[in-house]
Amino acid sequence: MPVSKTDFVRAVQCEKMLWLDAHRPELKIIPPEVQQRLDAGNEFGDKAMSLFGPFEETTAFKADGKLDFSAMLETTKRLLDEGYPVICEGAFSWYGNYCAVDILRKSENGYILYEVKNASAPRKEFILDLGFQRLILNKCGVKLIASMLVLRDDEEEGQVCVERLEKDGIRYKIVDATREAKILERQAGNRVFEFGKLKKKDAPAPEIPVGEQCEKPYRCWYFEHCHKIFKKGE
Ligand code: SF4
Repeated sequence: MPVSKTDFVRAVQCEKMLWLDAHRPELKIIPPEVQQRLDAGNEFGDKAMSLFGPFEETTAFKADGKLDFSAMLETTKRLLDEGYPVICEGAFSWYGNYCAVDILRKSENGYILYEVKNASAPRKEFILDLGFQRLILNKCGVKLIASMLVLRDDEEEGQVCVERLEKDGIRYKIVDATREAKILERQAGNRVFEFGKLKKKDAPAPEIPVGEQCEKPYRCWYFEHCHKIFKKGE
């Protein structure tokens, strides 16, 4: 079964989380403060789209309101063929595994991939996200010359970044994560098909006990479900 960028990052935290997403999503509980953080992240991402000047966004929806990924793939291909300089939410797919890239910017020698995060410092899970995108784009034949994180610039001292930008009253900083993302790209290549098996209709639930992964890097949305199950068995 195909794996998305979100699937991949969630399965790295816990494979059972991806299994539950695929087979028992009704057990998910998203706390309101987490939903607020997700909404703020989406808003931050939308605002960052214009950071490098005029852009084309590929996002498309079907009549039922669901994302039309096929249309997005088609638009992305057209924009790449036309050599469009900045593509937002460009869609890519390799053996069904897929991602949409926050910002893809053409430069003289290839493309720069940007992942936008409403955070002031890089985190391992952001790089993992970039690593998965690199895997898909490289397999699709896109020549990547760098992988960057676009973060909130809180003007903290001592943080290394390649560029600081301001747009519509928001300060951003660009952090080069190419080297780290390349390492995680290799790991993604090794695991993506293994994770896809978890989504198959008849896949058994992985037997993973609750542990540190239930709260790191994020508290799991199945926390209550899994912890109740294990309490009952005690
Ligand atoms: S609560 Fe823990 S064990 Fe259960 S799916 Fe989440 S991370 Fe995995």
